[in-house]
Amino acid sequence: MTVPTPIVAGNWKMNTDIAGGTALAAAIAAGVGAIVGVDLVVCPPFVSLAAVRDAVAGSGVSVGAQNMHADGNGAFTGEIAPPMLVGLCEYVIIGHSERRQFFGETDDSVGRKVAAAVAHELRPIVCVGETLSERESGNAAEVIRWQVTSALAELDAGDADGLVIAYEPVWAIGTGRAATPEIADQIMGGAIRSTMAAVLGLDVAAAVPLLYGGSVNAANAAEFAAVENVNGALVGGASLDAGSFLAVAVAF
Ligand code: PEP
Repeated sequence: MTVPTPIVAGNWKMNTDIAGGTALAAAIAAGVGAIVGVDLVVCPPFVSLAAVRDAVAGSGVSVGAQNMHADGNGAFTGEIAPPMLVGLCEYVIIGHSERRQFFGETDDSVGRKVAAAVAHELRPIVCVGETLSERESGNAAEVIRWQVTSALAELDAGDADGLVIAYEPVWAIGTGRAATPEIADQIMGGAIRSTMAAVLGLDVAAAVPLLYGGSVNAANAAEFAAVENVNGALVGGASLDAGSFLAVAVAF
């Protein structure tokens, strides 16, 4: 079975202007020589994609967008279509909990966007995660299984080559309260990998990188890197500092 190459991705969210993003990307690209066997991805705001792409060119650092529309074009003011991202980035974050919480993203729209990303040869980093009340009511694994099933609804096993799934418990994002490695292990090895195996087959599921996200930083990254089914991290706050982001990557 293929063991996934670890991926450490930085979600810059609505932070950094073009100059600041370019400088951050250049600092990460300058430090990437110290990272062995880990793929790095930076996900700046849309307006900085071209500048960041140019700043990391030739370094091995990849670029991702933070969202996209599922349709190829149309009357959707303010939206960005998948073909517009081609050439600017290789990855796209889909279904981040902030999109689900503040912008009406649903399991159904996530499924359509994942299929659209794959169709345009963009690698979707699909975010799933339970809220605190879902965890406290004992429904975390069920919620995650449903989110993964919906995200994969329009894919065949042959479409899963570039797929990446990030487990980001909503209660751990931006709170400084990371999940424990035990929780990551239960959800990622259990609910996520087994749901993928049921849909895509065991071998395909085993090759999909699973990232943990939620208050990952230089101090706790090694705990997550030690978990068998954690193949990297999706990093928010700590990705805005090149040294911290690179330190997370070193842990994997
Ligand atoms: C995120 O929003 O994807 C994230 C993981 O944020 P943070 O690392 O800041 O919790």
